[in-house]
Formats: sequence, structure tokens, C-alpha cells
Amino acid sequence: MKIILAKSAGFCFGVKRATTMAFAAAENRDQICSFGPIIHSPQVVQRLADKGVTVVDDIDAIEDAAVIIRSHGVEAGDLDRIQNRGLEIIDATCPFVKKAQNHAALLASEGYVVVVVGEAEHPEVQGIVSYAAGCQAHVVAGRDDAEKLPRATKIGIVAQTTQSYENFKQVVDACLGRCQELRVFNTICDATNVRQAEAKAIAAAVEVMLVVGGYNSANTTRLASICRDIQPRTHHIETTDEILQEWFVDVKTVGVTAGASTPHWIIEQVVDRLTECGG
Ligand code: SF4
Repeated sequence: MKIILAKSAGFCFGVKRATTMAFAAAENRDQICSFGPIIHSPQVVQRLADKGVTVVDDIDAIEDAAVIIRSHGVEAGDLDRIQNRGLEIIDATCPFVKKAQNHAALLASEGYVVVVVGEAEHPEVQGIVSYAAGCQAHVVAGRDDAEKLPRATKIGIVAQTTQSYENFKQVVDACLGRCQELRVFNTICDATNVRQAEAKAIAAAVEVMLVVGGYNSANTTRLASICRDIQPRTHHIETTDEILQEWFVDVKTVGVTAGASTPHWIIEQVVDRLTECGG
């Protein structure tokens, strides 16, 4: 059985940077926590917990501890509250997310109605919106939402970093007809598109596809759904324990990819397990 491992499988730049910062910070601090799980990988969160990094979701409950800010950022008000408490901040917000937050703030300060293209419930989007303080801000999922926006003199657009270009372009197109001035900041990060394109190509070339990553990771779940549309024998797994030998009976090729928050050690364990299964 041939194993095809995606080159883009595993940590993206921002997640790698955040976890490296968190492990380094845990080495020389006694009291340290992260505000929300640092990334969507229960295994990485557990390894950090073993190093003393607790996860908190209530700022008032933090005692005297350094606070790590997760890769997809937090709301501006929460950051202010942590700062006002005088706690040490280790800001692991991905620079690409930071850029989207800064552009939203700039647009708001210059009087634009801010439109954020993304999922309203996603913490990254809620964070970006919070930086557009003092202006009207709207979150739109796609063209249909954008066509319902009230008309405005000036509209400024930013995107959740994981959006597709196609969806972003459709929103831009819809907004063109709803204002006199349109300003667009392309804040999409390529990591997601690259990973999805490679996963599609591999899923089309194999008989069984494994997508490795946290069940709470939106990008892994999306990756699994994209692969399943192409190869119905796609399995979303979190760890090697879930792999069953029976999946590979008479199988000649198996593909493996992983979400942006899946650590390399889990991917290596999956490949080792596949090797035991005849890979
Ligand atoms: S997907 Fe892109 S924006 Fe999001 S954390 Fe990774 S590198 Fe940063």
C-alpha cells in the first residue's frame, strides 16, 4: 500500500509560531495560562497543561499569571481588560490575523462602514469586528448577506483569514453596487487554500483518505468534508487509536493530510500506524 502524505499537512505558520511561543514561555514561568485554548488540538493543549499552562475563559478569575493570547486573537476589550489588570501578556496572535484587526480599526477610524467576510460565530471574526469600534460593522457570510446590507457612502471590507478568494470576490462585487466608495483589504491567508487544493488532489488519487486533526478544529472538519465529497472513504481521525486495519483491505493507495492545528508528532504516528497496516 502506497502512502501519500500531503506536504502542507499540519501546522500553518501562525499555529507553529503560537505553540513555539507558548512552550518557550512555559519553560521559565511558574504561573502561566492561555485565554481560551491556544489552538484547536486537544493533544497540544494537554502537552501544554503538562508544562503548567492552564486554559482560562474568565479574565477576572486569573490570579497573578502570564497570559498567552491564542493564534486567532481575542476581542479588543478582552485584551484591554488583561492589560488593565497589569498581567504579563504573551501575544501569540498570528500576524495575519493582527493585520485584519488593524485594517478593520483603520477603516472604522476613517468613517467606513466595515464589512467582515466570514463566520459570525468564529472567535477570529468576533475579534476583528471588535477592532472596528465606533462604527457600523457587519459580518457577511457571502454574496446573499452582502446584498442585504444597507446602502452607505463608504464601505470598507476585510476578510476572515481562512475565507476563499471566490467568496471574498463575490462580496466585493455585491458591495460595489451599494456604496460610492469601496476600500478592500485582502486579508486572506493562503495557508487554508493551499492545504485544501493539495487535499483535493490527493483525495482524487487514492482509495482511502485520512484527515488528521481535532474534532473541534473547524479547518480540519472542513478539510475532511472536502475530501469526502471526492473520496467517500475519507476518515477524520484525531489519533492513531482510531485507525482500523479493515479500512485497508485490498487498498493500494492511502492519502494523509492534516489540519493547521495538528502537530507533526501525531502525523508521524499516523504514518507509522499505516506502515504497520501494510503501507
Ligand atoms: S491559517 Fe493563516 S492566518 Fe490563520 S493562524 Fe494559520 S497562518 Fe495565521
